[in-house]
Amino acid sequence: MILRNILKSFSQDLAIDLGTANVLVYVKGEGIVVNEPSVVAINKETGRIVAIGKRAKEMVGRTPASIVAVKPLTSGVVADFEVTEQMLKYFIDRVRSGLAVSFIKPRVVVGIPSGVTEVEKRAVENAAINAGASKAYLVEEPIAAAIGARLPVNEATGSMIVEIGGGTTEIAIISLGGIVVHRSIRVAGNVFNQDIIDYMKEKYNLIIGEQTAENIKISLGCAFPLDESLTDVARGRDVITGLPKELEITNKDILKALEKSLSSIISSIKEVIEDSPPELLIDVYRHGMVLSGGGSLLRNLDKLIYKETNVPAIVAEDPLTTVVRGAGIILEEIDVLGNILAKSDYKKPPK
Ligand code: ADP
Ligand code: MG
Repeated sequence: MILRNILKSFSQDLAIDLGTANVLVYVKGEGIVVNEPSVVAINKETGRIVAIGKRAKEMVGRTPASIVAVKPLTSGVVADFEVTEQMLKYFIDRVRSGLAVSFIKPRVVVGIPSGVTEVEKRAVENAAINAGASKAYLVEEPIAAAIGARLPVNEATGSMIVEIGGGTTEIAIISLGGIVVHRSIRVAGNVFNQDIIDYMKEKYNLIIGEQTAENIKISLGCAFPLDESLTDVARGRDVITGLPKELEITNKDILKALEKSLSSIISSIKEVIEDSPPELLIDVYRHGMVLSGGGSLLRNLDKLIYKETNVPAIVAEDPLTTVVRGAGIILEEIDVLGNILAKSDYKKPPK
């Protein structure tokens, strides 16, 4: 028994946020040790993986035609799931090879988008086991995010979380460790980038790349008018002349570009509120809903949500790491929180 406990304390268990845009790995007792984009560069001719993570992202749009960069979790195609497995294995291996005691198999808690199928869930579990985990526990993003944001998920209180990532926006009301009402839509950071690309082309005849769109989104992005005016330079190619062109744009451009997507998110938030049992809604109204994920960093998103739904919204502290921190808390308290892991395996209610 004592020996088992000593071994257990050495096992350096892991928590992983397998996000559509970013993968984060937390090591028990150490904190977050990996924070890289979920991108894999593949040589189309040989089918071999050329790079994973940061290095693969740097290749996007700059590679020879034979190398393609894929975001294996965004498309939701099972074919890409093999790539996801490789990516997960790569990050687990990398963390484990840096550990002092790598001979003891770790337990791994993985946060996964709640839209994944049973087949995909099993694939993630297998990937974690193949990568050296003794046991893999899956937890759905909204639950992990809520725990990371320190919401009282285990209590008989309604907690509402809006998690805006790269591929999906997950909206959930949680009570007693389970999801009571939930919506998942494929409108999030990646769609925002595409919105900006489309807008620049339509309004200014300027073709910009995805990375440029993302940079502009971060420098100017807002969901509701700002007090001050922000400006940035957009660089790309002129549709008509085909030549390089740059022009100055403002946060108002981005507000306009994101209008439609933001209104889809608002509609889904309203649906969740409308479907909520009234008692839980009173709690949500009193405590506010918590926003997390990279998309929640859009300026004034809280203001827009409050104006449209009449429910206060609060951006979580360090919203890009809430899911992995939540998964880390589950890891630290795995014996106590075991029921959450079981419950998070809920069946989605029919739409
Ligand atoms: P996922 O969980 O799907 O991996 P993340 O929570 O890591 O996603 O968020 C990634 C998304 O957040 C990306 O689309 C990125 O462009 C976006 N993002 C990151 N920082 C900001 C910011 N300051 N403003 C707006 N969007 C942001
Ligand atoms: Mg996420």
